[in-house]
Amino acid sequence: MTKTERTYLDWNATAPLLPAARDAFVAALDMVGNPSSVHGEGRALRMLVEAARRDVAVLVNAAPANVIFTSGATEAANLVLTPNYRMGRTPLAIGHLYASEIEHPAIREGGRFARENVTTIPVTRAGVVDFDALETLLHNHDKATGLPMVAVMLANNETGIVQPVKAVAEIVRRHGGLLVVDAVQAVGRVPVDIEALDADFLILTSHKLGGPKGAGALVSRGEVLMPVPLIRGGGQEKGHRSGTENPAALAGFGAAARSATEEPAARNSRIAGLRDALEKGMRAATNDVIIHGAEVERVANTSFFSLPGLKSETGQIAFDLEGIALSAGSACSSGKVGQSHVLTAMGFDAALGGLRVSLGPGSTEGDVERFLAAFSRVVSRRRAA
Ligand code: PLP
Repeated sequence: MTKTERTYLDWNATAPLLPAARDAFVAALDMVGNPSSVHGEGRALRMLVEAARRDVAVLVNAAPANVIFTSGATEAANLVLTPNYRMGRTPLAIGHLYASEIEHPAIREGGRFARENVTTIPVTRAGVVDFDALETLLHNHDKATGLPMVAVMLANNETGIVQPVKAVAEIVRRHGGLLVVDAVQAVGRVPVDIEALDADFLILTSHKLGGPKGAGALVSRGEVLMPVPLIRGGGQEKGHRSGTENPAALAGFGAAARSATEEPAARNSRIAGLRDALEKGMRAATNDVIIHGAEVERVANTSFFSLPGLKSETGQIAFDLEGIALSAGSACSSGKVGQSHVLTAMGFDAALGGLRVSLGPGSTEGDVERFLAAFSRVVSRRRAA
């Protein structure tokens, strides 16, 4: 390996841009017009946006009319997490948000809910939503304030653990609540079907799929029950999200969504094979590596581990110097490594940081070999220290 050669193992942070997404993006950049214009140029861009909407809809088995494009998952979360809804033209109040403790900050922050109207749902030591706690929270919910809203992600970005969303939906339905599912890390990795999950809303982002950054979607179950818009103005996206669409980013998103629907089983079983080899290699190199979530269902591409005596920040830098791009579980926008709220929620010592390897369709056996060689060196340096 030359000094400059890098191994990218941080697909959960963002996936490399797919060639098909780049082609669609560049082609759209060269098109003149505004998708809202009625002239031919505008109509051509409208067709592009609507094709992307169909591609994204297919990915999650939704009707294209129920896909609202946003600038990403964070904006979609801020759109959907609000106490103010409309059922048709009639205002509908949502009294309280119950969000799992392991949600991404985009959801944990609670969107447009006041802080005091957001409660976290604990997870078990296995990293799965605590059903009994959710039952109790919804049982005690004060209906006079409005309906309860529950937010539970489908796959966790740090551990890759898949949440039993269908079972969560059964509890939410029994209590007459709404269910919001962050499917950002799940699409392309496990089947995501808004109907089968019985979710009211799904949150998606393009760049985790190999599409460009700056595009995402809020997908609803129907068109009647909708949040009061976050961004008002020209009435684009049927008034749910104003502002001229970004056709290039959306065309790239559509291409990435299409690619995610192509032979997912074969793709994910190959990735699972790489991840399993990686974990086997880590265990062979040292018997004190802790692999989080290995005993429950995970997406195929993620391995989140801790090495006693190695802080996340130190580990991340050590691997970076070895030419390996991986991630501590959580990194804030400043790039500073924070303690993993996911590990804390699972009852692990927060000081015991985690390191996340996340793979993707472009990952190779060579990537795993280079990681394991670096891992052995990092482990032996830790021992020597
Ligand atoms: N939800 C999850 C699970 C994520 O992993 C991320 C990105 O890290 C987001 C939401 C936010 O996505 P975006 O930064 O595209 O808004």
